[in-house]
Formats: sequence, C-alpha cells, structure tokens
Amino acid sequence: MDKFYDVVIIGAGPAGMGCAVELMKNGVSPCVIDKAVFPRKKTCAGLVTGKTYKLIEGIFDGRDTDGLFCFTSSRVRLFQRNRELVSAQPTNAVRLVNRDVFDNALVERYRALGGAILEGERNYEIDYDGRRIRLSGGDTIGYKYIVFADGALSRSHKLLKIDKSRMACGIEVYVPSDVYYTDSVDLYFDYLKDGYIWVFPHGDTVCIGAASLFDRKLNYKDILSEFVADLGVDICGRKLIGAFLPYGYVIPQQKLGDNILLVGDAGGFADPISGEGLYMALETGAQAARALLTDKPKQTYMKSVKPLIKTINDGRSLQKMFYTPTVQKAFFSKVRGRSDAVEFFFDNLVEEYRFGYLKALSMYKGYKNR
Ligand SMILES: Cc1cc2nc3c(=O)[nH]c(=O)nc-3n(C[C@H](O)[C@H](O)[C@H](O)COP(=O)(O)OP(=O)(O)OC[C@H]3O[C@@H](n4cnc5c(N)ncnc54)[C@H](O)[C@@H]3O)c2cc1C
Repeated sequence: MDKFYDVVIIGAGPAGMGCAVELMKNGVSPCVIDKAVFPRKKTCAGLVTGKTYKLIEGIFDGRDTDGLFCFTSSRVRLFQRNRELVSAQPTNAVRLVNRDVFDNALVERYRALGGAILEGERNYEIDYDGRRIRLSGGDTIGYKYIVFADGALSRSHKLLKIDKSRMACGIEVYVPSDVYYTDSVDLYFDYLKDGYIWVFPHGDTVCIGAASLFDRKLNYKDILSEFVADLGVDICGRKLIGAFLPYGYVIPQQKLGDNILLVGDAGGFADPISGEGLYMALETGAQAARALLTDKPKQTYMKSVKPLIKTINDGRSLQKMFYTPTVQKAFFSKVRGRSDAVEFFFDNLVEEYRFGYLKALSMYKGYKNR
C-alpha cells in the first residue's frame, strides 16, 4: 500500500470541502479525490441564504469573503406564469455566487490549510472490504473511513441501488445581463407540475433555470425554452445545461457500513421546497468531520443530522401538498400583493430554519394576529 489516511473524501464540492476544512482545523489530514480539475463548472443557480453565509464565514475564519459573491439582491418577486404576484423585501439581502469561483475558493482554502487533493482522478477503484482505493496510475490509498461527497449521482448509490426517479432534475442557462436584466430574485410558478422556474441576477449575467421532480416524460429543455420565449429573451443558441439534485428523499445511509458516511447531495441533503443544497452540503460536511473525531463516527453523525432529516421529511410532505392544483390556486390568490407574507416566510424558512415546515401556517397565523 502506497499511502494510508484515516479519512478519504470523494468529491471536492461544498460538502467535501465543508468536511475537509473542518477536519484540517481539528488536526486530521484527509485525502480528497475529485474527478474534476478545479476551477470546474457546476450547474447551480448560486443563491446563498443567510444560514449558508454564516457557514461560509466559519470556513474562512472571518477573512474577507466579499470577492466570492457576484451579486447581492434585496428584492424577491413571485410570479404566476409571467404575471407578477408580489414584490417583497426580506430583512437581509440575498447573496449569489458563481459556482466555479466559489467552489474553487473552497478548494484553495483547504489547500492553504495544507490539505491534500487528487484532482482529475476518474478511473479509481474502491475495494470496500479491503478499505483501499486503487488510483488510475496504479498507486493505492488505504483508509479507515470513506466520506462520499460526490454529488446527487454519488457512486455510493450503486451500493444501495438508488435510481434518479426520487430526485429533481434542474436545467439552466446563463445569459448576459444586457440581454435580460433583473436585480431581484425572481421565482415563477405554474410552468411546472411540481417545481418552479427562477431568474437570478449574477452581475454580468442572469441565471434562468427550471427544476422539478424528475419525470422521464418531461422535456425540460422545451419548458425552459417556452419560458424564455415568454420572457422575450433570445438565448442566442446558448446551451441549456441540466443536472440532478435531491428533492425530499434522504439516502438510507444507515444501511451502509459503519465506516461509510454520505454528505451533501450524495446523502440526499437538500431542501425539498426551495432546492437549496449549499447550506446542507456545508453543514453535513462539517458535522461528518466532527463525528469523525469521536469514537463512534457513524452513530454520532446520524444523530447529528436528525434535525436536517426532519426538515427534509416535513418539507417533502409540504411539497406534495403545495403543488396540487387546489393548493396552488389558493397560494396564488393569498400571496397576491402580500409582501408581508413573502417576507415572513423568506426570513423564517429560507434565510434561516427558524421553525419546521409543518409549523409554517400556524406560525404565520400567530404573526398576523400579533
Ligand atoms: C439546476 C440547479 C440549481 C441549483 N441552485 C441552487 C441554489 O441556487 N442554491 C443552493 O443552495 N443550491 C442550489 N442547487 C443545489 C446545489 O448545487 C447542490 O446541493 C450542491 O452543489 C451540493 O454540493 P455537494 O458538494 O454535495 O455536491 P457537488 O457540488 O455536486 O460536488 C460534488 C463533487 O464531486 C465530484 N465528483 C462527482 N462524482 C465523482 C466521482 N465519481 N469521483 C470523484 N469525484 C466526483 C464533482 O466533480 C464535484 O466536484 C442547485 C442544483 C441544481 C442542479
């Protein structure tokens, strides 16, 4: 065996880096393996909520992170198809990142702490029984624990025979902001059966995208093209790029060995209402690292992610209800012109998880009756 590490992390996205940076800060040097070479592209709309921002600040230990963000927006608008329902101003402005820049900065932060990373490593083989990895060049790496942070289509899912039908499919295109401009975070409903379309400002560009529960029969490209045409935007042959994301199904990783941990998208950790995945990626990565410092990592980790799993399960129940035609109709009529309602939900359920999804309506009634 050429090298041995206590922890090997597969994937150097936010979840992998969340774990790797936290380990380094606690005196454990993992080995990170990524199939890509950084900076690399990642299909994502790049919206960073307040709770995610706090985790980013932690990773960078109070260093100036302003350069990571490509835009800051203080307005959220909701639309029913192309008709504006409401324009709201949440308490805090929302930040946006370009993922190639953001993810590369995380990798650089890890490197600055002395972390080891193997990039462009695609053809490695994992021997789970022997706890070693044979790299494409023939070298082997032994490990005690392996953390999968390799995204929504994690290779760990093969061990559990999980397919894509429980995920969402997202598709997006970036167009220059002189072709279409918005300075607000715009969400469009009623184009997709169980999902939504977004238009997010990114400075020089805007990100236009759509995501919904994966349906093999849906042509996501046609849906987004129809929307873009409604918006009056000519995307000038720019490519629409798709990717999968978790959407309410938490991967049953307790069925895997005690030395295998799944974090971020690989573990099914993303919000099933908004599709926000950066927060849970960074958070589960850091929680896995802290668990790996204990004498029972897997049990400790599963216990620590319980509140996130509850958020996902509750959100999944709400998601099923929210996208029924009756509830959608009621939602559109209730929210029209009600910026206070949008601000309340954005402040308390998007920016922060101040209460669970199933408590949302009772909390709002309480807020209105104050
Ligand atoms: C269209 C779309 C829009 C989105 N918009 C937002 C948003 O606005 N805000 C938000 O918070 N979330 C958003 N998300 C979700 C967010 O992108 C993910 O939740 C987040 O990237 C998860 O981070 P991760 O580290 O778990 O996985 P990833 O970011 O996918 O990172 C996985 C890493 O693993 C590597 N990898 C993959 N397979 C292998 C392999 N076999 N071996 C080695 N390395 C491998 C990849 O190269 C990559 O670097 C969006 C997702 C999609 C699809």
